[in-house]
Amino acid sequence: MTNQPIITFENVTKRFGKMVAVDNVSLSVEEGEFFSLLGPSGCGKTTLLRMLAGFETPTEGRILIDGQDISNVPPNKRPVNMVFQSYAVFPHMSVADNVAYGLKVDRTPAAEIKRRVEEALELVQLGGLGDRKPDQLSGGQRQRVALARALIKRPRVLLLDEPLSALDAKLREQMRTELCTLQEKVGITFIMVTHDQDEALALASRCAVMNRGVLKQVATPSDLYEFPNSRFVADFIGSVNLFEGVLAVDEPSHAVIRSPDLPIDIFLDHGVTGPRGGTVWAAIRPEKIELHKKVEGGEPPNLGDAPKGTNAVAGIIRHEAYLGGSSVYEVEIAGGRRVKVHRSNLTRWDQEDFKLGETVWLCWHACSPAVLLS
Ligand code: ATP
Repeated sequence: MTNQPIITFENVTKRFGKMVAVDNVSLSVEEGEFFSLLGPSGCGKTTLLRMLAGFETPTEGRILIDGQDISNVPPNKRPVNMVFQSYAVFPHMSVADNVAYGLKVDRTPAAEIKRRVEEALELVQLGGLGDRKPDQLSGGQRQRVALARALIKRPRVLLLDEPLSALDAKLREQMRTELCTLQEKVGITFIMVTHDQDEALALASRCAVMNRGVLKQVATPSDLYEFPNSRFVADFIGSVNLFEGVLAVDEPSHAVIRSPDLPIDIFLDHGVTGPRGGTVWAAIRPEKIELHKKVEGGEPPNLGDAPKGTNAVAGIIRHEAYLGGSSVYEVEIAGGRRVKVHRSNLTRWDQEDFKLGETVWLCWHACSPAVLLS
């Protein structure tokens, strides 16, 4: 990967009438990245991709490829190619003719077309299936035809619009791995639009999270999960317990959040430099909360990195969803709030078992909560 961005969006806005679909987005994608645009339905991610492909024109701002403004470059002259969610293969053509289509339009010599079609089919593991018609293929194979057809023209950037959404869950998972391997093999920059956060986290080297046309955060999957910059991102990526409160203490070495939803103070082992006395949100991931048995009259457990009386709260188990490798518990605390706790079943046989209606302690480390200011 070089440091030269292959794609740059500069203050790009797209309006449809009064509706702002993309709102002042600035973003760079590096060469060789597997980049994902992620967000709920209607957030503007497809519009952003379509502007890059040239199917829509920005109302304001510029899009650069390799530093060149592409505003006046028609879609078929841009070094990008798009794979759509509905496969978009021609049903009356054989697989080989589907894949060859773009090269034929460009009047590439027949011998070269034949060689490149074979190469492209091998690349997507469809070698030997060139004579079939699309209706003689499975959904996953049809999607691979669409990939081969897009890749055969050797674009600098491949755009993928919800490429796996038409596939069933099992096939989706398999195709995820294949897409990743394919991208590593061809070394082309991939930009994928998806509303499926698991898919984005599993595939992308970096993700951009959008909401209502606005770019909320751009980061690696693990940074998005561990260090979300807003409630929206914390909630959209994975599962989270959000506690609204105020910063009662904010020193360089530690901070305390007081929330009306919790009977205890939340102690943090670092400063926040937030608005003292102002509203903040503590975001605690369900797997960062430990469950412990509560004995009548017993002391709350202390994980050792927070003062006694903080970061341990009593509750009653109200629900368990058993997911095989893990279980998700819903624990009701004083005041009625339900807290989600994710517990690995890896060593369940020698772990304490928890039953519905049982009173437990919920504990977390002083480094676990992320503090969000918006
Ligand atoms: P989805 O996941 O549902 O495809 P998205 O995040 O890709 O959603 P976009 O398709 O980019 O969202 O649409 C963003 C907003 O712009 C939506 O409110 C949509 O209705 C609107 N929009 C998109 N294209 C047009 C159009 N051609 N004319 C009018 N409004 C449009």
